[in-house]
Amino acid sequence: MSRLAHLTSEESDEFTRRLPKVELHCHLAGMLRPGTLIELAAKYGIPLPDTTPEGVYDPCHQPHAVASLNLLDAVISCIKDRDDFARVAHEALVDSSRASNLKYMEIFFNPAQHAAFWATPYADMADGLIEGMREAERETGVKGRFIASINREQSPAVATQLVRDVIDNPRDEIVGIGMDANEALGPPEAFQEAYELAGRHRLRRTAHAGEWAFPRNVATSIETLGCDRIDHGYFIAAEPVLLQRAKDSGLHFTCCWSTSLYHGWPAGPQNPIVEMWRQGLSISLNSDDPQLDGSSVNRDYVAFRHAAGADTEQMKRLALDPIDHLWADEGERRDLRRQFNTEIQALESEFATPGAALTAPQGAHR
Ligand SMILES: [Zn+2]
Repeated sequence: MSRLAHLTSEESDEFTRRLPKVELHCHLAGMLRPGTLIELAAKYGIPLPDTTPEGVYDPCHQPHAVASLNLLDAVISCIKDRDDFARVAHEALVDSSRASNLKYMEIFFNPAQHAAFWATPYADMADGLIEGMREAERETGVKGRFIASINREQSPAVATQLVRDVIDNPRDEIVGIGMDANEALGPPEAFQEAYELAGRHRLRRTAHAGEWAFPRNVATSIETLGCDRIDHGYFIAAEPVLLQRAKDSGLHFTCCWSTSLYHGWPAGPQNPIVEMWRQGLSISLNSDDPQLDGSSVNRDYVAFRHAAGADTEQMKRLALDPIDHLWADEGERRDLRRQFNTEIQALESEFATPGAALTAPQGAHR
């Protein structure tokens, strides 16, 4: 019997919030502080879309998913030079790590989209991001990496050039490539050349697939694009053969509870993320676009715990397991495992005495 079996539901939620965590799926453009976005938009003369019936900009109010993607396009056009990249990366890492006790984050950015607006050199973007990340690490201890993401609404030729830019400007902190935006407008197989090029140069590969439609994109991203991880991938819950193969190969799925609800998946135990977890797939819970969706890793952990009926031991494993799948070297993964185990042991001791957690200092991690 777990030494924390006596915890009330509220105490288990608090234990869950205070667990150390990693985040492997969030987008730079979905993480800008509203004040920063408004300031940058004014600086560059970018009109932000009206997102409320009253006709004012509100990052947490979009009528539908495509409007959300359009808003991300507008946000991307507000990030121009190296200083902007440093600022937004710094703020994103500091805010998210503080909100959810994150120790390590991998953040998507869309270099070809920024370049389309401003012709900003890829190296300037990469160096700005790294500068912001270092500043955030000094401030909070959080470690960061970045994933150069293909916008699948741009052409395959643009995607291949993006991969060439990453290869020609190697940075240890830019660890791989991804692919996002509207699955209806960019099937994964169209980007095979870009992914093969990335694979030949040992870049790690992931892709958004099977988030709200197009179940076959999950298999195509695994088999044709050679992805190491899949972002979302919810349709695999209904494909036992593919699911078993993914499980056997240890493929990891970066899932996003809040945005799964946004796309119409059920909020309870029928949510495919719960089923993927029940079936033993390796999953992580991530915030995706926290400033757009009002999500946070902590909120999603607690919501998932209730939907899945998971106990503290299972939530502990859910926090630890993604460390095996993050794209840093084994030395860094080992250090994180050690750090997590130490923090979790201290947390378990704190919560082990009945009633103690009620009087313990409540974390700011919501
Ligand atoms: Zn995403």
